[in-house]
Amino acid sequence: KITVGILALQGAFLEHKLHLQKAVRQASPGSPLDTTKFEIVEVRTSEQLASVDALVIPGGESTAISLIAERSGLLQPLRQFARVDRKPVWGTCAGLILLSDEASKAKKGGQELIGGLHVRCQRNHFGRQTESFECDLSLPFVGDGEPPFRAVFIRAPIVERVLTGADSGDVAGDVVRAPKLDADADDYKITPIEIIASLPTTQGKEAGDIVAVRQGNIFGTSFHPELTPDVRLHRWWLQECVLGGGESRI
Ligand code: GLN
Repeated sequence: KITVGILALQGAFLEHKLHLQKAVRQASPGSPLDTTKFEIVEVRTSEQLASVDALVIPGGESTAISLIAERSGLLQPLRQFARVDRKPVWGTCAGLILLSDEASKAKKGGQELIGGLHVRCQRNHFGRQTESFECDLSLPFVGDGEPPFRAVFIRAPIVERVLTGADSGDVAGDVVRAPKLDADADDYKITPIEIIASLPTTQGKEAGDIVAVRQGNIFGTSFHPELTPDVRLHRWWLQECVLGGGESRI
């Protein structure tokens, strides 16, 4: 059995759980997503984290999630899980921020990052809650005749840029950075970052803003795919990232 965990400290964890359960339930008989193979559980402790094979870090408020993770003794285990053990992890919105190696600080303080995605993320890129929006994204790899994917952005971050090996110097005071781990080594150079989705021109926002990336075992999206009825991205993640391992085949 494959156990998929959802970090359930704060934010939209229940919606992710229901989506993962639905994706598995809807899988056609004989497909790789056989219900009997998966168990979907909530993760609140390091013991629970140690018992899962893959993890979703939901959207919510990244400062709150990181504070609770720190108090629960989960920050280092989460870094170990994503960056050393290289288990499949998917971060949405606040989850994407936490999985970035660098993130802009919000006005009221920053937060401890888990890191793993060698990118700089900009929090609240589109502005305040009232500037939240939805748009259609083209994610042809999710299948089903490929209708566009309705993406919900709520005080969403974007990936501002992909970092390079040369970005290891000091950073300005408005950026937080995930701590280095001994086990990090030079692997970043060999695991390329794939830009999975960018904002389309039709949105009236800045076309080309990066809203989904993947680096090996880590997948991140700025938007909330758990807030529409569409489970295609959850199904894709289970199939490609959880069952398929770190190899990308998009
Ligand atoms: N703006 C939030 C943050 O900085 C993220 C919002 C979300 O997850 N929907 O953590």
